[in-house]
Amino acid sequence: DEAIHSDSWCVRYKADLEDKYTRRLSITTELKRALISQQNELSMVYQPKIDLQTMKVCSMEALIRWNNSVLGFVPPDEFITIAEQAGLIEQVTSWVMKQTISDLAYFREKGYGFTVAMNLSTQDIQNKVLLTKLVSLLTEEGLSPEALELEITESDLVADASLAIENLNELTARGFHFAIDDFGTGYSSLAYLKNLPVKTIKIDKSFILSLASDENDQQIVRTVLSLANVFNLKVVAEGVEDAASLDILKEWGCDIVQGYYISRPLSCADLESWLQNTPFGE
Ligand code: C2E
Ligand code: MG
Ligand code: MG
Ligand code: MG
Repeated sequence: DEAIHSDSWCVRYKADLEDKYTRRLSITTELKRALISQQNELSMVYQPKIDLQTMKVCSMEALIRWNNSVLGFVPPDEFITIAEQAGLIEQVTSWVMKQTISDLAYFREKGYGFTVAMNLSTQDIQNKVLLTKLVSLLTEEGLSPEALELEITESDLVADASLAIENLNELTARGFHFAIDDFGTGYSSLAYLKNLPVKTIKIDKSFILSLASDENDQQIVRTVLSLANVFNLKVVAEGVEDAASLDILKEWGCDIVQGYYISRPLSCADLESWLQNTPFGE
């Protein structure tokens, strides 16, 4: 009986591995194609961030979307990781930069003053070619680096500090602003961040989603907020899904909120009508 059991476990395990391998392979193949095709498979959506002091939009986070005819919707968490491993992230980020900066120029032309926040992955912060491209894209559009925020994940920085930090310092000197994303999920402390040219931290949504009901999350968030205050860091809470959480964050002195309670990420067209109808509009 046990033999049969362990045998079927083996078969099952092998099948799972094959599934994973096949999926990874089709994502790699399809993504390569999407990056050069004219099918508009890739797009950017924008999620508003609200300044809790003014209760108005201050920024938009740019998030990539991928709809593929074979694979359907592929979540960014999944394909970004695979792109990093398959050597495709430079191409993905190039595409994101081009689209985001062109959208940012459009928003500015329409008279909106909010900044746009773009996500970078570890390899991007070490890629001089990509960072030079970023600067020239902004220049071409007549935009200053202050119009853009760059979000980098906490764990990425800790993993490969030296070169990343050198590049962060250089870009900061040029006027770029960095935010630490998913704060609380890595191993760094706020004291460590003090040595980095970082002005903003984004508390990971895992601590915010149940904030109104979870006392552990409340402890964590309160601690992060008071330490951030000591170190003069701006705090964004992502994953705000209800009014109760927003009220708590406001009361505790959080600076900025982002989440489904305000708005889901929106296409450019949907964003324009949202901006015209929301009480959070500029
Ligand atoms: P992130 O940068 O931490 O982005 C926030 C994620 O939280 C987004 O997921 C957003 O849709 C989601 N979110 C926002 N508010 C709420 C909420 O109230 N409730 C819940 N449950 N979720 C909320 P998304 O768009 O699926 O992106 C996932 C991750 O993929 C991002 O996490 C980021 O790490 C990565 N990513 C997305 N776009 C890009 C990109 O253009 N470049 C790079 N390098 N990474 C990207
Ligand atoms: Mg982000
Ligand atoms: Mg995050
Ligand atoms: Mg993330």
